[in-house]
Amino acid sequence: NNERYLESQAARESNARSYPRRLPIAILEAEGIHVKDMDGKVYYDCLAGAGTLALGHNHPVVVDAIRQMLEHKRPLHTLDLTTPLKEQFVDEVFASLPEAFAKDARIQFCGPTGGDAIEAAIKLVKTATGNRSILAFQGGYHGSTHATMSLSGTLGQKEKINALIPDVHHLPYPYAYRCPFGVGGEETHRISSKYIENLLCDPESGIVSPCGMILEVVQGEGGSIPAPIEWLKEIRRITKERNIPLIIDEVQTGIGRTGKMFAFEHAGIIPDVLVLSKAIGGSLPLSVVIYHKKYDVWKPGAHIGTFRGNQLAMAAGLATLTYIKENNLPEKVAQLGDRLSNHLLELKRNVAFIGDVRGRGLMIGVEVVNADEQQDSLGHYPAHPKLASRIQQECLKRGLILEVGGRHSAVMRFLPPLIVTEEQVDDIARIFSEAVH
Ligand code: PMP
Repeated sequence: NNERYLESQAARESNARSYPRRLPIAILEAEGIHVKDMDGKVYYDCLAGAGTLALGHNHPVVVDAIRQMLEHKRPLHTLDLTTPLKEQFVDEVFASLPEAFAKDARIQFCGPTGGDAIEAAIKLVKTATGNRSILAFQGGYHGSTHATMSLSGTLGQKEKINALIPDVHHLPYPYAYRCPFGVGGEETHRISSKYIENLLCDPESGIVSPCGMILEVVQGEGGSIPAPIEWLKEIRRITKERNIPLIIDEVQTGIGRTGKMFAFEHAGIIPDVLVLSKAIGGSLPLSVVIYHKKYDVWKPGAHIGTFRGNQLAMAAGLATLTYIKENNLPEKVAQLGDRLSNHLLELKRNVAFIGDVRGRGLMIGVEVVNADEQQDSLGHYPAHPKLASRIQQECLKRGLILEVGGRHSAVMRFLPPLIVTEEQVDDIARIFSEAVH
């Protein structure tokens, strides 16, 4: 059954399709953390729409919110005209933000994708500062349009695509396991922030007056790499001192995934510009940019786009946000994340090809390495993308969907819905353990 759909897809869809190549299943139904394929086989969905499905598939509060919209003849699409629902949605989003940020914030609704909101954020800070160059990070991921791809730090992929936007400077992210400075541990983030500060002070670096800096607090597609808290504080200090708008991309980390409502809260910092998408639309397409009002100097129409008024997504997003708050999900996510990490760390002790286990909350990565090769200067083996791919297939056979990501495509990424239970966490870890043995 799956086969028939996959063949039809292969015959008609673009060669650029991605997930179906690694996950050759056709999905019929989905509920909570589970999806069922055309053969009736049930899987744990730890991909969850690349982190979109905060409450899993078809959560009753989301389904009910959508049903209410349809039953009451609410408009489904209003461009950026306002509605009572939109006002309620904005109220709830602002109420979720730290007061220090919310009190002077403005919100811009964007096209339905995270990438579109990142584009808007860059246009915003370019307009506000009059500057051109942008600081981004190696391993970062911000989207697949020309501008967002330019910002993304997965350089290999972009080598053959011309005419990406210039003026993007990629800085080293504090990825201690594959330390860009060859030191590892806490030294990685100390050297990284020092290096960045030096660059920004050096008139010859060509980046003393950037329009902004963009970063993920936990790099997602880059391999579930959490930035150390001290590093984030340092970066906030440096950017504040130099008047550089700090854009925090929480498209993947936003609303509870890392064990706080927003990942920047772990460091007690406040961004100048915040980008949200994925979970904020409650599993439907929606994205927003939220920023300090001092940057609000762009002109009416500076960022337009037809699908900025997805009312169903606002209804689903509002229901999701309310549920997350009322049920203290961020706190539970922190505990569930520790539980899953502990299982995986236990496994690492006995499995030579598990090189690193890391993450924050329910955004966890397991880096698969080749223990038959030479270790690097930090004593780490090289990444093993082929083995990661094999493990992914073994997991799939056993009913567990995991994404593989990271700079070398060797990181098994665990992104379960935030409503996963302790028993399910244990079962997911058990399946993963069987798949690697
Ligand atoms: N930023 C981050 C951190 C992301 O994880 C993603 C999507 N994986 C994007 C931006 C781009 O979002 P979209 O795919 O909706 O354009």
